[in-house]
Amino acid sequence: MQTAEIRRRFLEHFAQRDHTVVPSASLISPDPSLLFTVAGMVPFIPYLTGREPAPFPRATSVQKCVRTLDIEEVGKTTRHGTFFQMNGNFSFGDYFKEGAIQYAWELITGKIEDGGLGFDPDTIWATVYLDDDEGADAWHRIAGLPKERIQRLGKKDNYWHTGAPGPGGPCSEIYVDRGAQFGPDGGPAVDLAGDRFLEIWNLVFMQYELDEVRSKEEFRVLGELPKKNIDTGMGLERVAYLLQGVENMYEIDEVSPVLRRAAELAGVTYGRDHESDVRLRVVADHVRSGLMLIGDGVTPGNEGGGYILRRLLRRAVRSMKLLGIDEATLPELLPVSRDAMSASYPELATDFDRISAVAYAEEEAFRRTLSAGTTLFDTAVTQAKAAGTPALSGDQAFSLHDTYGFPIDVTLEMAAEQGVTVDEEGFRALMKEQRERARADARAKRTGSVDVLAYRRLLAEHGPTDWQAYDTLRTDSR
Ligand code: ATP
Ligand code: MG
Ligand code: MG
Ligand code: MG
Repeated sequence: MQTAEIRRRFLEHFAQRDHTVVPSASLISPDPSLLFTVAGMVPFIPYLTGREPAPFPRATSVQKCVRTLDIEEVGKTTRHGTFFQMNGNFSFGDYFKEGAIQYAWELITGKIEDGGLGFDPDTIWATVYLDDDEGADAWHRIAGLPKERIQRLGKKDNYWHTGAPGPGGPCSEIYVDRGAQFGPDGGPAVDLAGDRFLEIWNLVFMQYELDEVRSKEEFRVLGELPKKNIDTGMGLERVAYLLQGVENMYEIDEVSPVLRRAAELAGVTYGRDHESDVRLRVVADHVRSGLMLIGDGVTPGNEGGGYILRRLLRRAVRSMKLLGIDEATLPELLPVSRDAMSASYPELATDFDRISAVAYAEEEAFRRTLSAGTTLFDTAVTQAKAAGTPALSGDQAFSLHDTYGFPIDVTLEMAAEQGVTVDEEGFRALMKEQRERARADARAKRTGSVDVLAYRRLLAEHGPTDWQAYDTLRTDSR
């Protein structure tokens, strides 16, 4: 089943159950505390927290998401993309646990000919929070899941809150057993990070009012919320990879054409060599993320979202170089990604002149400094090894960044390949210094009050610049 068809079925399923279909918000987060939209719930935060009354009691969407926190997993696990789409259904004080479980079950196990996704009920497992008897009972009663396929996990995995006083509650996750060839028995509880039991859908039950929130696992429950909400997120690419009978999300219809084209350009056969397979998957993922981010108006730069886009594009370019390609690669790959994505996002085709100009210029800028930077890097590594300190200094990483445009994770990746480490802390301190200098310069040029306003506006537009710290509002459950 094509990814676009799964998306259509999802929206149709919930539209038939009185949900208002809401188009995806931009990847640039509508919530000012986040740089990018990291989950389907982000555009609904005002309604979920009760800050604003919801204009509808039920909603459904397929939300474009970017999670840079998952960048290291890309290509290594079967299930993490930097860009992905989250199908969601939401209830604002309307139906609760039982409704959410019933609707999810009907869609997953509904017959293909009836508009469902056709999963074999015997392969489905669910997790619930430790003391969530209600949730466990509903899975048993409504879905008929045997008790041994309903597993209980702690706060780390099955509790959701925003990290601040406000709404929170247990969640319940749906897993698909891919079969004994992918790992040991025992269900998701023993194979959370493995690839046998694949997490496809998270149902969050916003049930309690919390305060004294100290960490993911330390908080106080004040009592029940007067209006309980449902927030769910199903990974579209994960479901697609299962339904398309492929091994991972980089091999689905929306991603694999880029992977295949990259392999063709490099003259390698995908599936023969682990290292080159990972690189091809990274390329396919990052090219798609670049396309989608530029499509939503992000441009490469040294701060905030622009810096993340830069990292993704440059890492893709460098991965292609490692695969042996010395020519510009984005002009070969980006149109392929556009063609794979424009069934769901027609604006990518109509806006492609602009999008491609931004991407190609970024590749050109990087290619101009890549070999000089690589020479500097090699010299630094040789010196470090000779000095018996297998580490690059923060200074060296900073000049690679500042003079040669090497994003830190390109430097980190190159260092790892050489078996040396990098003083990341030193690097970040220098970055911070530079930022502060730039701000002071800007301040000197303007009058004080105007400057504060401009900075606030920037912050509202782009979020804080420390991308790692602000990547996940929805607390990550890895
Ligand atoms: P995982 O444990 O596999 O990292 P998660 O628990 O972090 O996933 P949630 O925050 O619960 O994910 O997000 C809801 C759903 O979105 C997940 O069940 C999954 O199907 C999908 N999803 C999350 N992160 C990614 C990603 N990086 N790439 C593709 N799909 C994702
Ligand atoms: Mg989850
Ligand atoms: Mg998880
Ligand atoms: Mg995760």
